[in-house]
Amino acid sequence: MRKEANSVKTLVVASGNRKKVVELRTLLEPLGFQLRGLDEFPGLPPVEETGTTFAANAALKAIAAAKGTGLWALADDSGLMVDALQGRPGVYSARYAGPGCSDADNNAKLLDELAGVPDEQRGAKFVCHLAMADPSGSVRLSVEGQCRGRIISDRRGTHGFGYDPLFLVPEFHRTFAELSLAVKSQLSHRARAFALLVPALQRLIATEQ
Ligand code: IMP
Repeated sequence: MRKEANSVKTLVVASGNRKKVVELRTLLEPLGFQLRGLDEFPGLPPVEETGTTFAANAALKAIAAAKGTGLWALADDSGLMVDALQGRPGVYSARYAGPGCSDADNNAKLLDELAGVPDEQRGAKFVCHLAMADPSGSVRLSVEGQCRGRIISDRRGTHGFGYDPLFLVPEFHRTFAELSLAVKSQLSHRARAFALLVPALQRLIATEQ
């Protein structure tokens, strides 16, 4: 029993976001993984995301969850990097406009900061980093997916969340918020990170057996 709980086939997802847990379950349970949410382990202290990169923050969250639960732990960190802002808001994407800010506040700040910047200099990318730590707290897997686009000057579309209404995917002539979830979930930074996660996990399992 103990062995099974420590096996790489049982993972705790280091996120309080139920949607993320569901998304990862859909991806990984068919491959034989059993996923547990962090909400099954009440009392774990919150993790301060003090890293300056997505990789560092994903690692911090995975290590804390692994040590706190004694299980293998998977964590993600994602956000938007804008070329003309030297990569900002980056790891501060969720709190770009200040503590407790809304998506609308963040989008308004982004438009303000990019006012007057011509189209050809409004390149940006979404980044999603996934890290997995073993029960001792060592990071054993780290993958990153990216999706490039451009920040437009007016919000377009109603789907999605965060910066989606401002993020144009040039190949589709649509913002993330104008694409259906089915399409976004094929080409997003998260989709690309997940596509790298599966083979990396399979390689890791092979080395663990
Ligand atoms: P998290 O690490 O997934 O919680 O994402 C941090 C922040 O990055 C979110 O609050 C959003 O502002 C932004 N973000 C991450 N992924 C997306 C996306 O797919 N669309 C829009 N915004 C995103």
